[in-house]
Amino acid sequence: MKWKQQLDGMQAYKPGKPIEEVQREYGLKEVIKLASNENPFGCSPKVTAYLQNNAVNHALYPDGYAQNLRTAVANFLGVKETQLLFGNGSDDIIAIITRALLYPGVNSVMADPSFSQYWHNAEIEGAEVRKIPCMEGAHDLDAMAAAIDEQTSIVWVCSPNNPTGVVIPDTDLRAFLAKVPNDVLVVLDEAYIEYVTHPGHKDTLPLINEYPNVLLLRTFSKAYGLASFRVGYAIGQPDVIAKLDPVRAPFNNTILSQAVAAIALSDQDYIQACRDANEKGKKQYIDFCEKHNLKYFPTDTNFIFFNINADSDVVFQELMKRGFIVRSGKALGLPGFIRVTIGTESQNEALLNHLESVLKEQGVFA
Ligand SMILES: *Cc1c(COP(=O)(O)O)cnc(C)c1O
Repeated sequence: MKWKQQLDGMQAYKPGKPIEEVQREYGLKEVIKLASNENPFGCSPKVTAYLQNNAVNHALYPDGYAQNLRTAVANFLGVKETQLLFGNGSDDIIAIITRALLYPGVNSVMADPSFSQYWHNAEIEGAEVRKIPCMEGAHDLDAMAAAIDEQTSIVWVCSPNNPTGVVIPDTDLRAFLAKVPNDVLVVLDEAYIEYVTHPGHKDTLPLINEYPNVLLLRTFSKAYGLASFRVGYAIGQPDVIAKLDPVRAPFNNTILSQAVAAIALSDQDYIQACRDANEKGKKQYIDFCEKHNLKYFPTDTNFIFFNINADSDVVFQELMKRGFIVRSGKALGLPGFIRVTIGTESQNEALLNHLESVLKEQGVFA
């Protein structure tokens, strides 16, 4: 068949291992997954209550325009309804943006390491990928700006960055945006925005008015604890949204997912509580890294990326035998590192105890 040439040897996205698979493989009863940056506390109890008490008619198509959710998000952010595009997770929005803007002959600029879907989608469209190495886990924004040329269509900026956790302070972000030509779309992926506590970070919403070529991406999958429902969205100027909308599949969010996302958004006390708990959990990991002299990147997310000074695939396997799933840095572009989702206090404590004994076994420290 006449496949696109670039599909030769291409692999599907490899997610963190599912709990059930690890239970089966290692004969374990309890397995704790700290691999995919899901909220360890789950979603708002208001969502759980709603799901127990509301039945929907499963024969009907959902509202393709997601009107109720759209109104809720627009009111929450103080933007127009026409400034929003909803996706089946922000993964869907990334694919929509790519499909709308990339084709052979144009290029797309991004950090390395960063979220793999940016280059994966660009490659499917046959566009050139320009990966600019991070410095100390942070986007090298000067080098990224310098990599932009006449053929550049999209620049991906992930803040805070996955997998490093590093957020871009407001002044750096603005200095960068001022350098980007206004016909290049800057996608600012903010999947972890709810966890940011960095004092140099400011509200990014005003940027879409100051720089109309900026599109923000947010999701209900991380802090909102609704990864299984697949809801993400873009915020931008109405004309940018209007160009992207025809590329979207007609019914890309379900009735239930639209309903629960709106409810989750209304419970900001819950988000605040999760952010506070995350700050405490973060400290458990930082204390561990400092005690054992392990290098870590400063994180403004619910995960931490740190150097274990050992083969990260081996440490990943050893932790899995003990019932913990993390991500090996080898798969994420920095071998020797592991990325761990910050869990509940007791999950963190248990993981760090096991990690300590694994690293002793590996001869990393005595
Ligand atoms: C998890 C993640 C996403 C995808 O989230 P979904 O909304 O579940 O598709 C996008 N970008 C980054 C940086 C992420 O970490």
